Amino acid sequence: MSEPVRHRDGGLWLTSFAERVEVSCPRCGHAGVVRASLAQRRWTTVFRCAHCRLQAHSERDDWLGQVRLIGRRPCGYCGHQWLYVNQVQRTSGAIAIALNEYQQRPSADPVAVRCPICRRSSEVAVQAQRERDREGHDPHFGLPLRLIERTRAGLLWAYNIEHIDELRRYIAADQRERYRTAGNKTMISRLPTWMKLARHRAMMLKALDRLAAKLEQPRAS
Ligand SMILES: [Zn+2]
Ligand SMILES: [Zn+2]
Repeated sequence: MSEPVRHRDGGLWLTSFAERVEVSCPRCGHAGVVRASLAQRRWTTVFRCAHCRLQAHSERDDWLGQVRLIGRRPCGYCGHQWLYVNQVQRTSGAIAIALNEYQQRPSADPVAVRCPICRRSSEVAVQAQRERDREGHDPHFGLPLRLIERTRAGLLWAYNIEHIDELRRYIAADQRERYRTAGNKTMISRLPTWMKLARHRAMMLKALDRLAAKLEQPRAS
């Protein structure tokens, strides 16, 4: 009889895997990498697309992911309080929205809102906020992850090959252990329940193989 395969959660948080994040360029779709280093609790982070030259830098406070537009004002016609804007705006593949542009020109893109009382439209000035979505986006600039697979049970994603390997070791293990000091903030302990189910193991391992295979391709589709 063979020994059971063990996995021991060594206590790494998801941020431990975030120093190199494999992404797709939001402008041209080519594969790229976000490189980050953490010092004194601050990330210094850079993305440069080798194909279209799109750049993002943490010192400039850049954000290339989706944003939430927030604003309100009274109706400009009947004075009805309030007309609200609270919506997520996705960046299309062709245009990247940099948050710092919004911050410099907060009223650059007002949103027309129809009054529920008098039915006339007023322009509402908006502020943009980063819309952080851990499912499938890089945590630094909000770029779409390259290593992402939609399975029948849920969305599987990884930042890089080390992240894939750690997930594979965990999923393949017959016995899963945790150091008592690891706590409940580790990457492994935060995985959704469906990933931990034995009946999903074979499906998960195949999906992880497909993720790893994407790294063999020089260009992301
Ligand atoms: Zn590009
Ligand atoms: Zn009105």
